[in-house]
Amino acid sequence: MRIAFIGVGNMGGGMALNLARAGHDVHAFDLSAEALGRVTAGGATAAPSASAAATGADAILTMLPAGSHVRATYETTLFAAARADAILIDCSTIDVSTARALGETAAEKGLAMVDAPVSGGTAAADAGTLTFMVGGPAAAFAQARPILERMGKAVIHAGGPGMGQAAKICNNMILGATMVATAEAFVLAEKLGLDAQTFFDISSKASGQSWSMTSYCPVPGPVPTSPANRDYAGGFAAALMLKDLKLAAEAASTAGASVPMGAAAQSLYQLLVNNGQGSNDFSAIIRLLRG
Ligand code: NAD
Repeated sequence: MRIAFIGVGNMGGGMALNLARAGHDVHAFDLSAEALGRVTAGGATAAPSASAAATGADAILTMLPAGSHVRATYETTLFAAARADAILIDCSTIDVSTARALGETAAEKGLAMVDAPVSGGTAAADAGTLTFMVGGPAAAFAQARPILERMGKAVIHAGGPGMGQAAKICNNMILGATMVATAEAFVLAEKLGLDAQTFFDISSKASGQSWSMTSYCPVPGPVPTSPANRDYAGGFAAALMLKDLKLAAEAASTAGASVPMGAAAQSLYQLLVNNGQGSNDFSAIIRLLRG
């Protein structure tokens, strides 16, 4: 297939390379020459513009920072450049309203489109082991699926337009809140004189267990691969967690949902980012709670 890939940064770069490795003819566009250089070195072709990449493509993928970039790229370029039978796939994490609106515009134009945000960071993007949560009509999902399977280990249809983004922010709201709860429990255990490893051995097998504890434990030791063991470097950046919590708050406000734990987590991650720790893994929230 000829595939256009717009936005080949930290995530999109690895994803585009996996499509090229699978034998697809990938035409990439990015505002950053450095980002483009990485994918051309791996077999993709650099396009001079988003329009040039999209023209004649069987599939058009976008992996851009936020809703404003995605909306602008679609409205100024992609809707006009796309072939009538192309599949449009936005993998960026954006607000539910924009994802829904773009899905509806695509449908009005007779184009197939899905929102397909991912779970998993840059390591999963490079390894092709992302999880895709997909929103859009069933036929569009069926068209997108084989392409997404080249970049991920799981591809799940979440519902109509915008439902991929809805699943993503609801999941990450749980993640943000459970990490705060897990971190504050480790701090309390510490202050009570309870050994961290002992507390982990008990709680990870009891009702306090969660992904935040067993995969991303916020103290060094119990889970050797967790970012706490490398001073919170790498992993899932606190600034990206804050972005997702803001998207959740925005969606909750539009939908009239009460999300008190998500709101508390958002405020705490804002404080962490304001303290200059936005590029650290989000489990660094334990530093803030420890004082
Ligand atoms: P990034 O900043 O590394 O990449 C974005 C790329 O888009 C950049 O290379 C930038 O130059 C390019 N770009 C911006 N505007 C453009 C335009 N108009 N036309 C062409 N290129 C343009 O960001 P990232 O970490 O790759 O994240 C991309 C998306 O994936 C975001 O929505 C993010 O929330 C989501 N995400 C990231 C992670 C992660 O761990 N990094 C995990 C899950 C989801």
